[in-house]
Amino acid sequence: MYDILHQDIQYIPGVGPKRKEILSKELGITTVGDLLEYYPYKYVDRSKIYKVSELSGEMPFVQIKGNILSFEEFDMGPRKKRVVAHMTDGTGIVDLVWFMHAQQITKNYRVNTEYVVFGKPTIYNGRYQFAHPEMEKAADIQLSEMGMQPYYMTTDRMKKAGITSRTVEKITKSMLERLTEPLPETLPPFIVNRLRLVSRDTAFRHIHYPKTADEMSHARVRLKFEELFYVQLNIVRYASDHRRKFRGYEFRHVGEIFNEFYQHHLPFPLTGAQKRVIREIRADMGSGRQMNRLLQGDVGSGKTLVALMSMLIALDNRFQACIMAPTEILAEQHLATIREFLGDMPVRVELLTGIVKGKKRREVLQGIADGSVQILVGTHAVIEETVQFLRLGFVVVDEQHRFGVAQRAKLWSKSQNPPHVLVMTATPIPRTLAMTIYGDLDVSVIDELPPGRKPVVTVHKYDNQMTSLYQGIRQQILQGRQVYIVFPLIKESERIDLKNLEEGFETLRQVFPEFRLSKVHGQMKPADKEEEMQRFVRGETQILVATTVIEVGVNVPNASVMVILDAQRFGLSQLHQLRGRVGRGADQSYCILVTNHKLSKETAMRIDIMCDTNDGFQIAEADLKLRGPGDLEGTQQSGMAFDLKIADIARDGQIVQLARDEAQRIIEDDPLCQKNEYQMLWSRLAELRKTNINWAAIS
Ligand code: ADP
Ligand code: MG
Repeated sequence: MYDILHQDIQYIPGVGPKRKEILSKELGITTVGDLLEYYPYKYVDRSKIYKVSELSGEMPFVQIKGNILSFEEFDMGPRKKRVVAHMTDGTGIVDLVWFMHAQQITKNYRVNTEYVVFGKPTIYNGRYQFAHPEMEKAADIQLSEMGMQPYYMTTDRMKKAGITSRTVEKITKSMLERLTEPLPETLPPFIVNRLRLVSRDTAFRHIHYPKTADEMSHARVRLKFEELFYVQLNIVRYASDHRRKFRGYEFRHVGEIFNEFYQHHLPFPLTGAQKRVIREIRADMGSGRQMNRLLQGDVGSGKTLVALMSMLIALDNRFQACIMAPTEILAEQHLATIREFLGDMPVRVELLTGIVKGKKRREVLQGIADGSVQILVGTHAVIEETVQFLRLGFVVVDEQHRFGVAQRAKLWSKSQNPPHVLVMTATPIPRTLAMTIYGDLDVSVIDELPPGRKPVVTVHKYDNQMTSLYQGIRQQILQGRQVYIVFPLIKESERIDLKNLEEGFETLRQVFPEFRLSKVHGQMKPADKEEEMQRFVRGETQILVATTVIEVGVNVPNASVMVILDAQRFGLSQLHQLRGRVGRGADQSYCILVTNHKLSKETAMRIDIMCDTNDGFQIAEADLKLRGPGDLEGTQQSGMAFDLKIADIARDGQIVQLARDEAQRIIEDDPLCQKNEYQMLWSRLAELRKTNINWAAIS
């Protein structure tokens, strides 16, 4: 072991106890190894010198080389001075400007001496100027050796203590110089060779101190690969162990209940995608291994029916099934949907949520315990409570992003063997991300909507166009349609949010005196909420005014307009979910995104994407790019925040795939982790798991 990596940073020249304390507090850097992994976030090519005549106002940081002709000082109020140095390189004149430390400047720099100046050129009074540039005597530096200059993130407290990016750069350099022996390799030679990666030693030196852009990019690829590879290896190994240890119930029969439903109760033909997914699920459940499957399907793609038919297979094998929804309203809707689908079939389906109380609750619990309840519909509360199933064989979880990994594990205590698990989500997760978060899940995709659906037409309106918007709403309602109007949660305070909604509701009542309105928000009693919702579902009200509680799952095919107010406050996936509430019937539907005129560039892009496409996968990809994976719904809640130092799941998809393939190859070759040639991998993995808490969350 090369112990220098564990050495305290305070002994690196230029650090000392004070700086060590700041680095440790601000960045968590305490050892040489930590500092090595504190990577630059960008580089500037400092091998090139520009001529003054070549400068333009759009340039980023550049270098020029010239002589100072003279200094000029300007008073800017009491004891405040501005110092300007006029400099030329023979092709033009620039001004170097300082607003502080004026005295020191004139002391430090001399006229008629050649300097290399580094800064961002801006135009002021018809001349290029560099404010607070970095300066070095031209005689002191060897330009060809400057190469790419790294830039490191620094915090305000670091800057106050005099630790700038430049300081970090110097410390890092002196540390690298002290590492005289090469750093040990942490990837096996067969991977390094096959993928033509640079060595770990080279990678660390070049990531901090590249002479060329090429050196930098090779170093980055190597370090990104390594990071992603161990994440994937961890997942793939976990999944393989899991598969070996836990046998799943074998559902051999597709029997009476399934066939009766399929032949006599199915109200419409299945789409090709639904058929394919049901086949995939069936094959899994019959394989003898425990199924863990993620079912992705855009809103309205018909996941509920797939879930129901899969549950019927469990029933045919004399097991119980359970479906969990994220909210009580949705649980009740699932109950209604399932009962309606089943019609008069003799299947006992019951609901268990917080509202089910007293005698009814005791009856349901009894039925679950004695096995007479065949399908249980509930909220996540089901798994929190001491609900005892007789023979739970299959669990469906609707809307994964509200359901964490820890909860998934709790299901197991509900039966001796782990039941098969189907997790359904309408939030499409790009493949590379799915591979990383849900690495132990297989993925099925419903990529086809039921026939006859017209794509929702999405338009953007500004908030001063409300009159014409109201006119459009009125026309739709007069044609017999229904309308959702969604208010955002502003989150400053629940009371303000509610006030916002109440006022908006009053306004709408005055605008539409001829129609009936429902109002739903998160702070209503569940029973009241349910009643208001049902009035809309039954068509007794024409407009449903709501906060985002309607986000998932509500199914009112007659609703044809979704108005989202203050749409700039919503994320892309939320907007897409909300839009999915309409377009469920045969009529043309509309989604209206209302914003004010002050849109940030990012918001404008979100709105554009929404108006351009209905494709959830495209939207998810764009979302990932705009926000980064750390923000993606689900990653936080599932307890799997990423702690990647250099790789970026959104942009490094190819490397994720490469890492996955290598990891898979190794596990296939050595499923019991016994072969000598792979031992270094397992000890490295163990080491990484010890040092990084987030790794543990994956398993
Ligand atoms: P989601 O995938 O968003 O949960 P649902 O399961 O709620 O979608 O289905 C949306 C609507 O489509 C429901 O009204 C459902 O009855 C209907 N549906 C499902 N499958 C089909 C199909 N194959 N053909 C026609 N309509 C379907
Ligand atoms: Mg659904």
